[in-house]
Amino acid sequence: MLDFSFTEEQEYFRKMLKDFAKEELLPNYTKWDREGITPKHLWKKLGELGVNGLRIPVEYGGSGADCVTTGVAAEEIGRGDFNLTYAVMLNSLIGEIINNHASEEIKNDWLPEIASGNKIVGIAITEPDAGTDAGGIKSSAERDGDVFVLNGEKSGISVAVAADAFLVFAKTDPAKGNRGISAFIVPSDLPGVECKAYEDMGNIPIGRGSVYLNDVEVPEEYLIGLKNKGFSQVMNGFDLSRLLIGLQCTGAAMQSLDETIEHVKNRESFGSPLATYQGVSFPIVTHYSKLEMLKWQAYRGLWLRDQGLKHSKESSSVKWLGPLYSQEAIHDCLLLNGHYAYTKEMPLEQRLRDVIGLEIGDGTAQANQMVIAKEIIGKEYRSYKTPVTK
Ligand SMILES: Cc1cc2nc3c(=O)[nH]c(=O)nc-3n(C[C@H](O)[C@H](O)[C@H](O)COP(=O)(O)OP(=O)(O)OC[C@H]3O[C@@H](n4cnc5c(N)ncnc54)[C@H](O)[C@@H]3O)c2cc1C
Repeated sequence: MLDFSFTEEQEYFRKMLKDFAKEELLPNYTKWDREGITPKHLWKKLGELGVNGLRIPVEYGGSGADCVTTGVAAEEIGRGDFNLTYAVMLNSLIGEIINNHASEEIKNDWLPEIASGNKIVGIAITEPDAGTDAGGIKSSAERDGDVFVLNGEKSGISVAVAADAFLVFAKTDPAKGNRGISAFIVPSDLPGVECKAYEDMGNIPIGRGSVYLNDVEVPEEYLIGLKNKGFSQVMNGFDLSRLLIGLQCTGAAMQSLDETIEHVKNRESFGSPLATYQGVSFPIVTHYSKLEMLKWQAYRGLWLRDQGLKHSKESSSVKWLGPLYSQEAIHDCLLLNGHYAYTKEMPLEQRLRDVIGLEIGDGTAQANQMVIAKEIIGKEYRSYKTPVTK
């Protein structure tokens, strides 16, 4: 059986979020960018709407929804406020990781708070000398009695200045490379944690920045998953976040296309609406076609995840093409709206800046292409492993 339909419940959820995005998010999308603030009240509002807890079980305050439903939220929120989709993506990713790998105490402490939107948790892997090569991180977590002592610098971290805690990756056994990395939940108010914001070109309300760890003591119960298994256990979550990112971007780009279609129907040049010129309609059609294909690949990946089937290459394809197709679509929408779209009166310039961020965040195009190459060509041909000998 091949069935592309959403359930009645999913359609209801989509309609509710579509209305919310149109009425409450879209009119204020540019406001948070211009004012440079993280609208924490909207993270709470998403909690009330059941969006933050989609991947959190009912007993911890969530709804235990499937991944496809989570994708619906990413797409629809993306139409209203691209930056708020970080809540959908981070809360799903971190909610899943904590639920699957943390102790009961940590689950009880953090999951209901994430689901309600009362607390924001970021994920801290990247470092000044290790991004794509995440196994090359240098932050350390050394055991000292019943605590781990964390030291290091995390860079480029989303919600760095807004988060109440971070899921921090650090080396517990530096000699073992990838196999010596562990994950910890680190509350941002612990002594020794310091966060500094960047001046980014986009995603301003996300407040990206660096997180410094100076002799931060965390109890051993804050270890998420098994010691030295941070990579193999926790990294699986990125197959989810990458699919959601594809849909976040698609939502923002589809909204831009809708706005542009309205514009080209109403604006005239040489006595006819712009929409009558194929030089105008064909770029719109091209982007619509690419985004539709991308969207269905994303839902297919989410469906595979729901079935417990492999979906890494699907996820990586959506991650590298989603932000790319979306920024190309938004760029053309900006041009089709003429010079007003180059001003800050319209949201298009911001959408373009915002979406470009996720061409890098959560893995660049090349990082994701490496994942796909490993699967379809073979892991013995990985460039970052032992060179291939014939
Ligand atoms: C908006 C945004 C949000 C982010 N949020 C977070 C977050 O919440 N948490 C977090 O931990 N990090 C976050 N990051 C950091 C992000 O994950 C890294 O920037 C990303 O993984 C790339 O690492 P890098 O910047 O060090 O680039 P590098 O790894 O130095 O790569 C630079 C360039 O070289 C290419 N490259 C590298 N190695 C290879 C190779 N072997 N083959 C081919 N090309 C290669 C890359 O694709 C890239 O184009 C965020 C970044 C952005 C922009």
